Amino acid sequence: MKYKPANKIQDLQYFGEFGGVNPSISDSSTYTFLSAKTMFDTFEGNADGCYLYSRHSSPSNLYLGEALAAMEGTETANVAASGMGAITGTLLQLCQAGDHIVSSRTIYGGTYAFLKNFAPRLNIETSFVDITKLESVEAAINENTKVLYCESVSNPLLEVADIAALAKIAKKYNIPLVVDNTFSPLSITPVELGADIVIHSLTKFINGSSDTVGGVTCASQDFINSLRSVNDGANMLLGPTMDSLRSASILKNMRTLHIRIKQHSKNAMFLAEKFEADGLRTVYPGLTSHPSHELFKSMMNADYGFGGMLTIDVGSLDKANELMELMQDKNLGYLAVSLGFYKTLFSAPGSSTSSEIPEEEQKEMGLSDGLIRFSIGLDNDIERTYEMMKECMEEVGIFNSVEV
Ligand SMILES: *Cc1c(COP(=O)(O)O)cnc(C)c1O
Repeated sequence: MKYKPANKIQDLQYFGEFGGVNPSISDSSTYTFLSAKTMFDTFEGNADGCYLYSRHSSPSNLYLGEALAAMEGTETANVAASGMGAITGTLLQLCQAGDHIVSSRTIYGGTYAFLKNFAPRLNIETSFVDITKLESVEAAINENTKVLYCESVSNPLLEVADIAALAKIAKKYNIPLVVDNTFSPLSITPVELGADIVIHSLTKFINGSSDTVGGVTCASQDFINSLRSVNDGANMLLGPTMDSLRSASILKNMRTLHIRIKQHSKNAMFLAEKFEADGLRTVYPGLTSHPSHELFKSMMNADYGFGGMLTIDVGSLDKANELMELMQDKNLGYLAVSLGFYKTLFSAPGSSTSSEIPEEEQKEMGLSDGLIRFSIGLDNDIERTYEMMKECMEEVGIFNSVEV
């Protein structure tokens, strides 16, 4: 489509202190001032380009934030120490005691647990809705609603949110639409479709090397200023600050994100088509059988594909476990949660990342026991991977137990 997020990242230019091709890492928690007056102005937020204390901001975090804001097309961004640090800070900045949130029910397990179990302690209540049913989204909004929350592609069921339609509803009630875009960086640009705030767990595709956790809130300058306010900013006061060494390394990894996403998408598309042809119940937004295939296509930035995440249902948890252990033995990937690694990662979400969601509700959402979530890796020879995976499936007897 119109937005070219990878170009925006490429066009940013930073040099290090000595002309280095990478920006210098700010290895300091505090900063000296030549005059006491400037220190006061900085504390009050009136001295641009001055740094006071690294929980507030640091040059390294600002560089990374700028790259992420360029990618998402927002004015600016605030980097946090984890995805949950970004999500909780953002929601607590938008909501006070007595407020209400309307959220998709198929969201990351940690976000679900925060909204369901933790936010009510602060008298913030959440209505969980089927985000694909726009009437029920609108019906859940009341006069206390302060946030409409969803994931562009949901975890683990890969439901796709109609961001433009949700943005219209949010505008009608004058509430911000907050979108967690962790599953589809570069592929989908939520702000282009009308979202107000975009969040990522940097832990996943964006960093891509499974060596750190990190998060970001991409939004307007006003909102980011409020998150960082020394008087009442959630991120400033709750303190989920990323370390400069980490933000520098994530920034370097971001420069290859477009290449990695294309390869993740290409490999996932290949496997999804093969698995489906083999008769496995396969969920992947790139398949025409996916209920939101056309919607995803209408929202996506061409070139980056439908992402690296897919699920298959192998009938039972026992079969799922057996298959995952065997695939790991053959070095086809790792039995691990998380996503966006060079190696394929797989897990059974019902018993792991979505275990915060009660069994009854898991059933209602279509989260079955035999579901395996794959984050497809950067394999050079995906045909060989497929052949080997198929051998594992045959050995475990998947094709005998699943109706084909
Ligand atoms: C992992 C994840 C999070 C949480 O991020 P952390 O970096 O683990 O705190 C939030 N949303 C989604 C969609 C995720 O996959």
